[in-house]
Amino acid sequence: MLLLTNGTVITHDQDNRVIKNGAVLIDGEEIKALGEAELLKSKYPEAEIKDVKGKIIMPGMINTHMHIYSTFARGMDLKTEQPPRHFLEILEKMWWRVDSTLKADDVYYSALYAFLTGLKQGVTTVFDHHASYGQVRYSLDLIAKAVEELGIRADLCYEISDRNGPEQSQDSITESESFLRKIREKDMDHLNGRIGLHASFTLEDETLEQVSDLADELDSSFHIHVAEGRTDLEDSRLRGYNGAVKRLDQYNIWRPGTMAIHGVHLQEGELEILRDNDCYLINNPESNMGNAVGAAPLKEALAKDLKVGLGTDGYTTDMFESIKFANLMLKHQNRDPRLGWTEIPQMVFKTNAQLATETFGPQLGVLKEGAAADIIVVDYKPPTEINSDNTYAHILFGINGGMVDTTIVKGRILMENREVQVVDDEKITHETGEQADDFWRRF
Ligand SMILES: [Zn+2]
Repeated sequence: MLLLTNGTVITHDQDNRVIKNGAVLIDGEEIKALGEAELLKSKYPEAEIKDVKGKIIMPGMINTHMHIYSTFARGMDLKTEQPPRHFLEILEKMWWRVDSTLKADDVYYSALYAFLTGLKQGVTTVFDHHASYGQVRYSLDLIAKAVEELGIRADLCYEISDRNGPEQSQDSITESESFLRKIREKDMDHLNGRIGLHASFTLEDETLEQVSDLADELDSSFHIHVAEGRTDLEDSRLRGYNGAVKRLDQYNIWRPGTMAIHGVHLQEGELEILRDNDCYLINNPESNMGNAVGAAPLKEALAKDLKVGLGTDGYTTDMFESIKFANLMLKHQNRDPRLGWTEIPQMVFKTNAQLATETFGPQLGVLKEGAAADIIVVDYKPPTEINSDNTYAHILFGINGGMVDTTIVKGRILMENREVQVVDDEKITHETGEQADDFWRRF
Protein backbone atom coordinates (compact mmCIF):
# COMPACT_ATOMS: atom_id res chain seq x y z
CA MET A 1 0.00 0.00 0.00
CA LEU A 2 1.09 3.55 -0.77
CA LEU A 3 0.03 6.58 1.24
CA LEU A 4 0.16 9.92 -0.59
CA THR A 5 0.22 12.27 2.34
CA ASN A 6 0.55 15.87 3.45
CA GLY A 7 -1.39 17.31 0.49
CA THR A 8 -4.52 19.27 -0.28
CA VAL A 9 -6.88 16.64 -1.69
CA ILE A 10 -9.37 17.76 -4.35
CA THR A 11 -11.76 14.83 -4.62
CA HIS A 12 -14.19 15.86 -7.39
CA ASP A 13 -16.69 13.62 -5.63
CA GLN A 14 -20.40 14.42 -5.27
CA ASP A 15 -19.77 17.05 -2.58
CA ASN A 16 -16.58 18.28 -4.25
CA ARG A 17 -14.79 17.74 -0.94
CA VAL A 18 -11.42 19.33 -0.26
CA ILE A 19 -9.32 17.68 2.44
CA LYS A 20 -6.60 19.91 3.82
CA ASN A 21 -3.60 18.18 5.33
CA GLY A 22 -5.03 15.18 3.57
CA ALA A 23 -3.88 11.80 2.36
CA VAL A 24 -4.93 9.14 -0.14
CA LEU A 25 -4.23 5.47 0.48
CA ILE A 26 -3.63 3.35 -2.61
CA ASP A 27 -4.01 -0.41 -2.44
CA GLY A 28 -3.14 -2.14 -5.71
CA GLU A 29 -5.07 -0.44 -8.51
CA GLU A 30 -7.65 1.19 -6.25
CA ILE A 31 -8.08 3.90 -3.67
CA LYS A 32 -8.61 2.22 -0.32
CA ALA A 33 -9.14 5.29 1.83
CA LEU A 34 -8.81 9.04 1.94
CA GLY A 35 -8.94 11.49 4.81
CA GLU A 36 -6.79 13.47 7.19
CA ALA A 37 -3.10 12.67 6.93
CA GLU A 38 -2.43 11.92 10.62
CA LEU A 39 -5.50 9.73 10.88
CA LEU A 40 -4.60 7.55 7.88
CA LYS A 41 -0.95 7.38 8.92
CA SER A 42 -1.83 5.94 12.31
CA LYS A 43 -4.51 3.64 10.88
CA TYR A 44 -2.22 2.18 8.20
CA PRO A 45 1.30 2.20 9.71
CA GLU A 46 2.47 -0.46 7.26
CA ALA A 47 1.84 1.73 4.17
CA GLU A 48 4.75 3.14 2.24
CA ILE A 49 4.76 6.94 2.63
CA LYS A 50 5.02 9.48 -0.16
CA ASP A 51 5.04 12.99 1.31
CA VAL A 52 3.74 15.43 -1.33
CA LYS A 53 4.82 18.43 0.75
CA GLY A 54 1.67 20.49 0.63
CA LYS A 55 0.94 20.03 -3.08
CA ILE A 56 -2.48 19.30 -4.61
CA ILE A 57 -3.63 15.68 -4.92
CA MET A 58 -6.43 15.30 -7.48
CA PRO A 59 -7.88 12.83 -10.04
CA GLY A 60 -5.96 12.33 -13.30
CA MET A 61 -7.23 14.33 -16.27
CA ILE A 62 -9.33 12.70 -19.02
CA ASN A 63 -9.08 13.88 -22.65
CA THR A 64 -12.15 12.78 -24.63
CA HIS A 65 -10.98 13.79 -28.11
CA MET A 66 -7.39 13.63 -29.27
CA HIS A 67 -5.45 12.99 -32.52
CA ILE A 68 -2.01 11.56 -31.84
CA TYR A 69 -1.42 11.68 -35.61
CA SER A 70 -0.96 15.45 -35.37
CA THR A 71 2.39 15.11 -33.53
CA PHE A 72 4.67 15.57 -36.56
CA ALA A 73 2.78 18.63 -37.76
CA ARG A 74 4.28 20.64 -34.91
CA GLY A 75 6.31 23.50 -36.34
CA MET A 76 5.42 22.76 -39.97
CA ASP A 77 5.65 25.78 -42.20
CA LEU A 78 2.93 26.21 -44.82
CA LYS A 79 3.98 29.78 -45.66
CA THR A 80 5.36 28.83 -49.07
CA GLU A 81 1.87 27.88 -50.27
CA GLN A 82 -1.36 29.79 -50.39
CA PRO A 83 -2.51 29.53 -46.76
CA PRO A 84 -5.76 27.57 -46.30
CA ARG A 85 -8.72 29.94 -46.56
CA HIS A 86 -11.27 27.81 -44.72
CA PHE A 87 -11.72 24.57 -42.79
CA LEU A 88 -11.93 22.26 -45.82
CA GLU A 89 -8.66 23.66 -47.15
CA ILE A 90 -7.05 23.20 -43.72
CA LEU A 91 -8.00 19.51 -44.00
CA GLU A 92 -6.87 19.19 -47.61
CA LYS A 93 -3.62 21.13 -47.36
CA MET A 94 -2.57 20.02 -43.91
CA TRP A 95 -4.23 17.13 -42.08
CA TRP A 96 -5.12 14.80 -44.97
CA ARG A 97 -1.60 15.26 -46.33
CA VAL A 98 -0.12 14.50 -42.92
CA ASP A 99 -2.18 11.37 -42.38
CA SER A 100 -1.51 10.09 -45.92
CA THR A 101 2.24 10.40 -45.32
CA LEU A 102 2.25 8.51 -42.01
CA LYS A 103 4.00 5.13 -42.09
CA ALA A 104 4.17 2.53 -39.30
CA ASP A 105 7.12 4.04 -37.38
CA ASP A 106 5.62 7.52 -37.69
CA VAL A 107 2.38 6.32 -36.10
CA TYR A 108 4.18 4.60 -33.23
CA TYR A 109 6.38 7.60 -32.37
CA SER A 110 3.54 10.09 -32.85
CA ALA A 111 1.53 8.11 -30.30
CA LEU A 112 4.38 7.57 -27.89
CA TYR A 113 5.39 11.23 -27.87
CA ALA A 114 1.84 12.60 -27.62
CA PHE A 115 0.79 10.24 -24.83
CA LEU A 116 4.06 10.82 -22.97
CA THR A 117 3.58 14.60 -23.14
CA GLY A 118 0.03 14.19 -21.88
CA LEU A 119 1.16 11.93 -19.06
CA LYS A 120 3.63 14.61 -17.96
CA GLN A 121 0.72 17.09 -17.96
CA GLY A 122 -1.43 14.82 -15.81
CA VAL A 123 -3.56 13.19 -18.52
CA THR A 124 -4.21 9.61 -17.46
CA THR A 125 -6.96 8.67 -19.95
CA VAL A 126 -7.17 9.55 -23.66
CA PHE A 127 -9.83 8.95 -26.31
CA ASP A 128 -7.92 9.03 -29.59
CA HIS A 129 -9.37 9.36 -33.08
CA HIS A 130 -6.76 8.11 -35.52
CA ALA A 131 -6.05 8.39 -39.26
CA SER A 132 -2.92 7.28 -41.09
CA TYR A 133 -3.85 6.53 -44.68
CA GLY A 134 -0.15 5.99 -45.42
CA GLN A 135 -0.37 2.94 -43.13
CA VAL A 136 -3.88 1.82 -42.34
CA ARG A 137 -3.49 -1.80 -41.30
CA TYR A 138 -2.09 -2.46 -37.81
CA SER A 139 -1.91 1.27 -37.05
CA LEU A 140 -4.17 0.82 -34.01
CA ASP A 141 -1.89 -1.96 -32.74
CA LEU A 142 1.06 0.44 -32.93
CA ILE A 143 -0.83 3.04 -30.92
CA ALA A 144 -1.89 0.36 -28.43
CA LYS A 145 1.78 -0.63 -28.05
CA ALA A 146 2.61 2.96 -27.00
CA VAL A 147 -0.33 2.92 -24.55
CA GLU A 148 0.94 -0.32 -22.97
CA GLU A 149 4.52 0.93 -22.72
CA LEU A 150 3.46 4.09 -20.91
CA GLY A 151 0.81 2.51 -18.66
CA ILE A 152 -1.99 5.01 -19.36
CA ARG A 153 -5.60 4.24 -20.34
CA ALA A 154 -6.77 4.81 -23.90
CA ASP A 155 -9.83 4.30 -26.08
CA LEU A 156 -8.73 3.93 -29.71
CA CYS A 157 -10.44 4.07 -33.07
CA TYR A 158 -9.59 4.48 -36.74
CA GLU A 159 -11.42 7.23 -38.60
CA ILE A 160 -13.11 5.35 -41.45
CA SER A 161 -13.55 7.52 -44.53
CA ASP A 162 -14.24 7.29 -48.26
CA ARG A 163 -12.07 10.33 -48.99
CA ASN A 164 -9.24 8.22 -50.44
CA GLY A 165 -11.41 5.85 -52.48
CA PRO A 166 -13.08 2.49 -51.84
CA GLU A 167 -9.95 0.42 -51.32
CA GLN A 168 -8.62 2.48 -48.43
CA SER A 169 -12.13 2.81 -47.06
CA GLN A 170 -12.41 -0.98 -46.85
CA ASP A 171 -8.93 -1.15 -45.32
CA SER A 172 -10.01 1.27 -42.60
CA ILE A 173 -13.09 -0.84 -41.85
CA THR A 174 -10.97 -4.00 -41.73
CA GLU A 175 -8.49 -2.31 -39.38
CA SER A 176 -11.31 -1.20 -37.06
CA GLU A 177 -12.94 -4.62 -37.05
CA SER A 178 -9.79 -6.63 -36.46
CA PHE A 179 -8.55 -4.32 -33.69
CA LEU A 180 -11.90 -4.41 -31.93
CA ARG A 181 -12.13 -8.20 -32.12
CA LYS A 182 -8.59 -8.50 -30.77
CA ILE A 183 -9.03 -6.30 -27.73
CA ARG A 184 -12.52 -7.63 -26.95
CA GLU A 185 -10.98 -11.07 -26.39
CA LYS A 186 -8.88 -9.71 -23.53
CA ASP A 187 -11.44 -7.60 -21.62
CA MET A 188 -8.94 -4.99 -20.39
CA ASP A 189 -9.67 -1.99 -18.18
CA HIS A 190 -6.96 0.22 -19.68
CA LEU A 191 -7.42 -0.33 -23.41
CA ASN A 192 -10.69 -0.06 -25.29
CA GLY A 193 -11.83 0.61 -28.81
CA ARG A 194 -14.88 1.63 -30.78
CA ILE A 195 -15.68 2.30 -34.42
CA GLY A 196 -14.27 5.61 -35.62
CA LEU A 197 -15.75 7.57 -38.52
CA HIS A 198 -14.22 10.67 -40.04
CA ALA A 199 -17.31 12.78 -40.76
CA SER A 200 -20.58 12.55 -42.66
CA PHE A 201 -19.27 14.52 -45.67
CA THR A 202 -16.55 11.94 -46.44
CA LEU A 203 -18.76 8.88 -45.92
CA GLU A 204 -20.96 7.35 -48.62
CA ASP A 205 -24.33 5.75 -47.88
CA GLU A 206 -23.05 2.21 -48.51
CA THR A 207 -20.19 2.70 -46.04
CA LEU A 208 -22.55 4.00 -43.37
CA GLU A 209 -24.77 0.95 -43.88
CA GLN A 210 -21.76 -1.32 -43.59
CA VAL A 211 -20.37 0.26 -40.39
CA SER A 212 -23.79 0.34 -38.81
CA ASP A 213 -24.12 -3.41 -39.33
CA LEU A 214 -20.60 -3.89 -37.98
CA ALA A 215 -21.44 -1.87 -34.87
CA ASP A 216 -24.50 -4.10 -34.29
CA GLU A 217 -22.38 -7.19 -34.64
CA LEU A 218 -19.56 -5.95 -32.37
CA ASP A 219 -21.86 -4.08 -29.98
CA SER A 220 -19.83 -0.92 -30.50
CA SER A 221 -20.66 2.77 -30.46
CA PHE A 222 -18.98 5.37 -32.67
CA HIS A 223 -16.53 8.26 -32.36
CA ILE A 224 -17.22 10.77 -35.17
CA HIS A 225 -16.71 14.43 -36.08
CA VAL A 226 -20.07 16.02 -36.81
CA ALA A 227 -21.05 19.48 -38.09
CA GLU A 228 -17.57 20.80 -37.40
CA GLY A 229 -17.39 23.10 -40.43
CA ARG A 230 -20.15 24.28 -42.76
CA THR A 231 -19.00 21.69 -45.30
CA ASP A 232 -20.62 18.90 -43.27
CA LEU A 233 -23.92 20.78 -43.14
CA GLU A 234 -23.88 21.73 -46.83
CA ASP A 235 -23.02 18.18 -47.86
CA SER A 236 -25.91 16.80 -45.84
CA ARG A 237 -28.28 19.26 -47.55
CA LEU A 238 -27.09 18.12 -50.98
CA ARG A 239 -27.96 14.59 -49.89
CA GLY A 240 -31.46 15.64 -48.82
CA TYR A 241 -31.08 16.17 -45.07
CA ASN A 242 -31.09 19.38 -43.08
CA GLY A 243 -28.05 18.53 -41.00
CA ALA A 244 -25.32 15.92 -40.66
CA VAL A 245 -26.81 14.59 -37.40
CA LYS A 246 -30.09 13.94 -39.22
CA ARG A 247 -28.35 12.15 -42.07
CA LEU A 248 -26.32 9.95 -39.72
CA ASP A 249 -29.46 9.19 -37.73
CA GLN A 250 -30.82 7.36 -40.78
CA TYR A 251 -27.94 4.90 -40.43
CA ASN A 252 -28.30 4.39 -36.67
CA ILE A 253 -24.95 6.01 -35.92
CA TRP A 254 -26.44 7.67 -32.84
CA ARG A 255 -26.53 4.93 -30.27
CA PRO A 256 -25.73 4.88 -26.52
CA GLY A 257 -22.16 5.99 -25.89
CA THR A 258 -21.50 7.38 -29.39
CA MET A 259 -19.18 10.37 -29.22
CA ALA A 260 -20.28 13.27 -31.46
CA ILE A 261 -17.33 15.59 -31.82
CA HIS A 262 -17.79 19.38 -32.25
CA GLY A 263 -21.46 19.87 -33.26
CA VAL A 264 -20.86 23.47 -34.26
CA HIS A 265 -23.33 23.70 -37.16
CA LEU A 266 -26.28 21.84 -35.68
CA GLN A 267 -29.79 22.34 -37.00
CA GLU A 268 -33.14 22.34 -35.27
CA GLY A 269 -33.89 19.08 -33.52
CA GLU A 270 -30.33 17.74 -33.76
CA LEU A 271 -29.36 18.31 -30.11
CA GLU A 272 -32.47 16.32 -29.22
CA ILE A 273 -31.44 13.45 -31.52
CA LEU A 274 -28.07 13.21 -29.75
CA ARG A 275 -29.65 13.44 -26.31
CA ASP A 276 -32.46 10.96 -26.98
CA ASN A 277 -29.96 8.42 -28.25
CA ASP A 278 -27.82 8.80 -25.12
CA CYS A 279 -24.78 10.14 -26.98
CA TYR A 280 -22.01 12.45 -25.85
CA LEU A 281 -21.22 15.79 -27.48
CA ILE A 282 -17.52 16.61 -27.14
CA ASN A 283 -16.47 20.25 -27.30
CA ASN A 284 -13.01 21.31 -28.53
CA PRO A 285 -12.93 25.09 -28.20
CA GLU A 286 -9.26 25.63 -29.01
CA SER A 287 -9.58 23.73 -32.28
CA ASN A 288 -12.86 25.44 -33.20
CA MET A 289 -11.25 28.85 -32.76
CA GLY A 290 -8.09 27.81 -34.60
CA ASN A 291 -10.05 26.55 -37.60
CA ALA A 292 -12.40 29.54 -37.36
CA VAL A 293 -15.45 27.28 -37.72
CA GLY A 294 -17.61 28.87 -35.03
CA ALA A 295 -18.76 27.79 -31.60
CA ALA A 296 -20.91 24.84 -30.52
CA PRO A 297 -24.25 25.65 -28.85
CA LEU A 298 -23.15 24.42 -25.41
CA LYS A 299 -25.55 26.51 -23.39
CA GLU A 300 -28.47 25.08 -25.36
CA ALA A 301 -27.04 21.53 -25.26
CA LEU A 302 -26.63 21.60 -21.48
CA ALA A 303 -30.10 23.11 -21.04
CA LYS A 304 -31.48 20.13 -22.97
CA ASP A 305 -29.59 17.71 -20.67
CA LEU A 306 -27.26 16.47 -23.37
CA LYS A 307 -24.02 15.04 -21.98
CA VAL A 308 -21.24 17.45 -23.03
CA GLY A 309 -17.54 16.64 -22.54
CA LEU A 310 -14.28 18.42 -23.33
CA GLY A 311 -11.39 17.37 -25.56
CA THR A 312 -8.25 18.90 -27.05
CA ASP A 313 -8.59 17.72 -30.70
CA GLY A 314 -4.81 17.45 -31.00
CA TYR A 315 -4.33 21.19 -30.54
CA THR A 316 -2.61 20.44 -27.27
CA THR A 317 -2.19 17.44 -24.99
CA ASP A 318 -2.84 19.59 -21.92
CA MET A 319 -6.39 19.44 -20.60
CA PHE A 320 -5.74 22.33 -18.21
CA GLU A 321 -5.11 24.48 -21.29
CA SER A 322 -8.39 23.36 -22.87
CA ILE A 323 -10.27 24.30 -19.70
CA LYS A 324 -9.07 27.88 -20.06
CA PHE A 325 -10.18 28.05 -23.71
CA ALA A 326 -13.55 26.46 -22.92
CA ASN A 327 -14.17 29.04 -20.23
CA LEU A 328 -13.29 31.98 -22.46
CA MET A 329 -15.18 30.72 -25.50
CA LEU A 330 -18.43 30.03 -23.67
CA LYS A 331 -18.45 33.48 -22.08
CA HIS A 332 -17.38 35.24 -25.28
CA GLN A 333 -19.78 33.53 -27.70
CA ASN A 334 -22.76 34.29 -25.45
CA ARG A 335 -21.47 37.72 -24.37
CA ASP A 336 -22.25 36.63 -20.84
CA PRO A 337 -19.51 36.58 -18.17
CA ARG A 338 -21.78 34.61 -15.82
CA LEU A 339 -21.37 31.46 -17.91
CA GLY A 340 -18.72 28.82 -17.44
CA TRP A 341 -18.52 28.52 -13.68
CA THR A 342 -20.73 25.45 -13.49
CA GLU A 343 -20.79 24.38 -17.16
CA ILE A 344 -17.06 23.82 -17.72
CA PRO A 345 -16.36 21.86 -14.50
CA GLN A 346 -19.41 19.73 -15.28
CA MET A 347 -18.03 18.97 -18.75
CA VAL A 348 -14.44 18.25 -17.78
CA PHE A 349 -14.79 16.72 -14.34
CA LYS A 350 -18.21 15.04 -14.44
CA THR A 351 -19.09 14.15 -18.04
CA ASN A 352 -15.56 13.21 -19.14
CA ALA A 353 -15.36 11.07 -15.98
CA GLN A 354 -18.72 9.46 -16.75
CA LEU A 355 -17.68 8.59 -20.31
CA ALA A 356 -14.34 7.18 -19.11
CA THR A 357 -15.99 5.14 -16.36
CA GLU A 358 -18.55 3.70 -18.79
CA THR A 359 -15.76 2.89 -21.22
CA PHE A 360 -13.17 1.27 -18.97
CA GLY A 361 -15.15 -0.11 -16.00
CA PRO A 362 -13.35 1.19 -12.89
CA GLN A 363 -14.59 4.51 -11.52
CA LEU A 364 -12.45 7.26 -13.04
CA GLY A 365 -12.11 11.01 -12.55
CA VAL A 366 -12.86 10.99 -8.82
CA LEU A 367 -10.97 10.36 -5.61
CA LYS A 368 -13.07 8.18 -3.35
CA GLU A 369 -12.94 4.81 -1.69
CA GLY A 370 -13.06 2.08 -4.34
CA ALA A 371 -12.34 4.39 -7.29
CA ALA A 372 -9.39 3.71 -9.58
CA ALA A 373 -6.03 4.98 -8.32
CA ASP A 374 -5.58 7.36 -11.31
CA ILE A 375 -4.16 10.29 -9.41
CA ILE A 376 -1.98 13.31 -10.05
CA VAL A 377 0.02 15.53 -7.73
CA VAL A 378 0.21 19.17 -8.80
CA ASP A 379 2.82 21.61 -7.53
CA TYR A 380 0.37 24.39 -6.80
CA LYS A 381 0.32 26.26 -3.52
CA PRO A 382 -2.45 28.83 -3.75
CA PRO A 383 -2.09 32.31 -2.38
CA THR A 384 -5.70 32.25 -1.23
CA GLU A 385 -8.17 29.95 0.49
CA ILE A 386 -9.08 26.76 -1.37
CA ASN A 387 -12.31 24.98 -0.45
CA SER A 388 -15.09 22.88 -1.93
CA ASP A 389 -16.74 25.98 -3.43
CA ASN A 390 -13.78 27.31 -5.37
CA THR A 391 -11.57 24.43 -6.57
CA TYR A 392 -12.55 25.09 -10.17
CA ALA A 393 -11.49 28.73 -9.99
CA HIS A 394 -8.11 27.64 -8.60
CA ILE A 395 -7.70 25.09 -11.39
CA LEU A 396 -8.80 27.61 -14.04
CA PHE A 397 -6.57 30.46 -12.97
CA GLY A 398 -3.77 28.72 -11.10
CA ILE A 399 -2.88 25.41 -12.75
CA ASN A 400 -1.39 24.29 -16.04
CA GLY A 401 -0.09 20.91 -17.15
CA GLY A 402 3.55 21.90 -16.62
CA MET A 403 2.88 22.03 -12.88
CA VAL A 404 2.01 18.34 -12.66
CA ASP A 405 4.62 16.70 -10.46
CA THR A 406 3.49 13.08 -10.20
CA THR A 407 1.19 10.92 -12.35
CA ILE A 408 -0.25 7.63 -11.15
CA VAL A 409 -2.42 5.24 -13.20
CA LYS A 410 -3.91 2.04 -11.75
CA GLY A 411 -1.81 2.61 -8.62
CA ARG A 412 1.42 2.62 -10.60
CA ILE A 413 3.66 5.68 -10.49
CA LEU A 414 4.33 6.69 -14.11
CA MET A 415 6.03 9.99 -13.25
CA GLU A 416 7.38 11.08 -9.88
CA ASN A 417 8.80 14.53 -9.07
CA ARG A 418 8.72 15.37 -12.82
CA GLU A 419 10.84 12.29 -13.65
CA VAL A 420 9.13 9.76 -15.95
CA GLN A 421 9.54 6.34 -14.33
CA VAL A 422 8.24 3.93 -16.95
CA VAL A 423 10.22 4.83 -20.09
CA ASP A 424 13.37 6.73 -21.01
CA ASP A 425 11.90 10.17 -21.68
CA GLU A 426 15.01 11.64 -23.35
CA LYS A 427 15.56 8.61 -25.56
CA ILE A 428 11.96 8.75 -26.80
CA THR A 429 12.24 12.47 -27.50
CA HIS A 430 15.47 11.92 -29.46
CA GLU A 431 14.08 8.98 -31.47
CA THR A 432 10.85 10.88 -32.17
CA GLY A 433 12.91 13.78 -33.51
CA GLU A 434 14.80 11.50 -35.89
CA GLN A 435 11.56 9.91 -37.09
CA ALA A 436 10.01 13.35 -37.56
CA ASP A 437 12.99 14.47 -39.70
CA ASP A 438 12.41 11.47 -41.93
CA PHE A 439 8.67 12.20 -42.07
CA TRP A 440 9.24 15.85 -43.05
CA ARG A 441 11.47 14.74 -45.91
CA ARG A 442 8.61 12.58 -47.22
CA PHE A 443 5.86 15.19 -46.62
ZN1 LIG B 1 -10.90 15.87 -34.20
